[in-house]
Formats: sequence, C-alpha cells, structure tokens
Amino acid sequence: MIIVLKPEATKKQVTHIVEKIRELGLKPMVSEGVERTIIGVIGPEDILRVQPLEVFPGVEKVMPVLKPYKLVSREFKPQSSVVSIGDVKVGGKKLVMMAGPCSVESLQMLQQTAKAVKQAGAQILRGGAFKPRTSPYSFQGLGEEGLKYLHEAAKSTGLKIITELMDPRDIALFEKYSDIIQIGARNMQNFALLKEAGQSDKPILLKRGLSATISEFLLAAEYILSQGNFNVILCERGIRAFEDQTRFTLDLQAVPVIKKLSHLPVVVDPSHATGQWDLVGPMAKAAIAAGADGLMIEVHPNPEAALSDGPQSLLPEKFVALVKELKKVATAVGRTL
Ligand code: PEP
Ligand code: MN
Repeated sequence: MIIVLKPEATKKQVTHIVEKIRELGLKPMVSEGVERTIIGVIGPEDILRVQPLEVFPGVEKVMPVLKPYKLVSREFKPQSSVVSIGDVKVGGKKLVMMAGPCSVESLQMLQQTAKAVKQAGAQILRGGAFKPRTSPYSFQGLGEEGLKYLHEAAKSTGLKIITELMDPRDIALFEKYSDIIQIGARNMQNFALLKEAGQSDKPILLKRGLSATISEFLLAAEYILSQGNFNVILCERGIRAFEDQTRFTLDLQAVPVIKKLSHLPVVVDPSHATGQWDLVGPMAKAAIAAGADGLMIEVHPNPEAALSDGPQSLLPEKFVALVKELKKVATAVGRTL
C-alpha cells in the first residue's frame, strides 16, 4: 500500500501517520520527494480495512501497489533515484564508469590498472578479492589481502572502490575497505546475503542473475530496500539464452523496461555479457544509447596472463580509446561521461 500525502502535509502529520502505521504492526517506509512525501506500508495490509488511513490529516490518497515489488517500484517513488558515493553520483545526467580487473591479482597490477582507468576518466575501480568461480580449482581471489590492495589503490588515485561480497560473515571487512558492495549474478537470490546488504549503510550494486527475469531481479532488490538500504544500483550483465556465440546474451531491453518499472539506477556490464573484449565497445555504446546510467568494464594490463576473464578484458590503451568514443554517444543522448 502507498500513502500519497498532500504537497502541503506537515512534518507533524507525517510523524502521526508513521506512528499509526507502526501501532498497527506494519512497517512504514517514508520517501520524501521534491513535491510530496509518499509512505510505503509493508506487511499484512488487510489491517488497513479496519483502520482506513485516508481519514488522517495530510493524506491525499491511499493506493494499493499492484506489482509484487513495492519499494523499488516507480509507483512508490516516481522520481529516479540518484545513489551517491561521496561526490560520485549514479543516476544523474553524468554517466558513471566503473573499470578495473576481474580479479585483484597483485598490488602492482592493481595500481597500474587503477592509474590507467583513472586517467581515462573512470570514477570507480572494480576488482574482485573474493571470486565466485564455477570451478573450485580456479583462482578464488586474494581475500582480505585483495581488499587491502583495493583500499591502497583508492588512496593513491582518488577512485572509489567496488568489490564483490559473497559471504554475509565478511560484511564488516567490506564496510571497512570498499565504497560500493557488489552482489554478483550467482548470488542474486542469496536471500541471507541480500538481507545483510540491506542492513549495511554502504551502497549496493546488485547484478542480475544468469537466469533471472526482470521481476525476480526487482524482487531481489526489494529484499535490500525492505531492510532499510535504499542505495541500490542495478546491473544488467547478460542472461542465459540459446545463443552460444557469446558468453551470455546482453538484455539491453532490460534497461528501459527496468527504468519504466523502477526508480533505481541501472548500469550495464558488457564485459561479462559478451565474454570477448572486441564486443565490449559496441555493446557499451548500445548500453548508453539504451539509457544506462553507467558501465562496468573489465580492464587488465596483460589480459593474456590474467587469472580470470582475460579474453573479455580490455588493454588500458583500448579502454582509453573506447571512453573517447563513448563520450560521443553520451553527448548524442543528452548525457555526459
Ligand atoms: C564480476 O563482476 O566480477 C562478476 C563475477 O560478475 P557476474 O556476477 O556478473 O558474473
Ligand atoms: Mn570477471
């Protein structure tokens, strides 16, 4: 249920309604818009039949949310959300660029990559320290050491850090070393992890599951918001389809579809979607044209020797050239990069 308040509703009236909702055993979620405040009500809504909220001063209307997801929906929050990571904003006119190696392999390679992507114009350094690998025999990441290297690289370049959390027990470490916590495609429906992320005050980037529908993706995000963390960025990274020429199939339709359904910012990862470095550029351009709020791109100083995802990683000089191209596409669609 959504309670839409009148534009002139006072703070006191909002507090009164919020208290009333709590008394009824329901959970209020307040969203303060530019023009008016909206209160989402989570819980068994039948209770509201005996206590209609329309009668409270300041209330304009009470509407059911027809979609299964509530807090992530545009019905709940009509204006697009902007997630702030310090001075970096995701969801505004300026596109955000997240770039870096698939895995953190050493401090030296990370510093080298960080410097290069910063110079090219990236604001956020990506790199996995705890890696979700299909085979238990593949490189699993450097663990806490990798997080420390990311922190070092951030200090020396001024870049923000995004890195993947796989185990809820590690959250304190991630809160210490990272700026954005990534939840990977394979963990999109790890509900314990989603709930933990929802209780963190760090922004969360949630990747779409390999076989997840958009509805399932948005419901996974709802888990995070329902715990109180509204700083969520969604990431389309390709889904499983019958085509096998590429690693996954980048569902670019998901970008405008999600933007219609949800207020959350959406970024696109063409590296994991295509699995091939020479396809990253074309799909990155297409993602910007489709309305993405940013990109996540894998860059490695020596892809041939990469411990994971070498074939899809761009050489730093290729990344520099691509960003130049992407700036033109951004301008063409009224954005900046
Ligand atoms: C990654 O970004 O490092 C990653 C493993 O991506 P995904 O979860 O999309 O496969
Ligand atoms: Mn990777």
